[in-house]
Amino acid sequence: MKERPRHPFIPPPRQDTVRRELTVLLREENLTVRELSGLVGIPEKEVLEHLEHLRTALHGRLDMTPPRCLECGFSFQKRERLKKPGRCPVCHSGRIIDPSFTIG
Ligand SMILES: [Zn+2]
Repeated sequence: MKERPRHPFIPPPRQDTVRRELTVLLREENLTVRELSGLVGIPEKEVLEHLEHLRTALHGRLDMTPPRCLECGFSFQKRERLKKPGRCPVCHSGRIIDPSFTIG
């Protein structure tokens, strides 16, 4: 038996289905983009795009626990962007704890 099963073609989930899934997860827990990416099965970049959309659609009910520097404890309180920052502005460390999200 040399025949191998072919990978079935899985159509990409429709945008609103993914968004609903993310909403359900975020109502239950506080999750990072990486965790959401793993749970829903889409790239982190797409999770961010959906979160941007949800933030607008939910009129501010999307709560972000700001990213925090692991070295000096600096918290990115005023950050508007959802993406994790590359470096700490205080100590320039790259060890940043991911922001996490929930729906209040
Ligand atoms: Zn720092």
